[in-house]
Amino acid sequence: MHRPVIEPRTDSPASQAVGLDLDGTLAVDQGWQGGRIGLPQPGAMDALRLLAARRAVFICTARPERWLPEVADWVSWYSGLDAFFDPNPERAYWQVVGGPILITRTKLGAACYIDDRAVHHAGDWTATLATVSHVIGLDREGIPALA
Ligand SMILES: [Mg+2]
Repeated sequence: MHRPVIEPRTDSPASQAVGLDLDGTLAVDQGWQGGRIGLPQPGAMDALRLLAARRAVFICTARPERWLPEVADWVSWYSGLDAFFDPNPERAYWQVVGGPILITRTKLGAACYIDDRAVHHAGDWTATLATVSHVIGLDREGIPALA
C-alpha cells in the first residue's frame, strides 16, 4: 500500500515538518552510556541537509534531557546546520523551514517520522500486529494473530 502524499498546508502545521530519530537512524547506534553519540550513518547528513532546506526538521530522541545540548552540538558539527535543544513541554509543532534543527524529547506533529524502530501503520491492524508480533518475537511465543 502506498502512503498518501502529505502536501505542506498553512492550516496544518504538522504537514510541514519531518521528525527524525537519532540513535540507529541519524547516528550509528552504540548505546547511550555516558551520553556518547555514534558517528553519522552513511548518507544521513546529506539527507538531513536536503530535508532541512525544504521542510521544518526536528530530531526526537528519548535520551535524557541533560544530554540534549550535546545532541544539538553533534548535529551542528556533522551537518553544518544550526541546531538547538528546546525543553518547552508545551510545544506541539516545529514549523521553521530552512531554519535550525530542533532537538526535542517530544513527539511533535509531523508529516512523517524516520525511525529505525518504526513499524508503519497503514490502517490495517491485522497487518500491523503481524509485523509487530514478528519484530518483538510474539510469533515465536505462539501468541495468536488477530482473527
Ligand atoms: Mg532509534
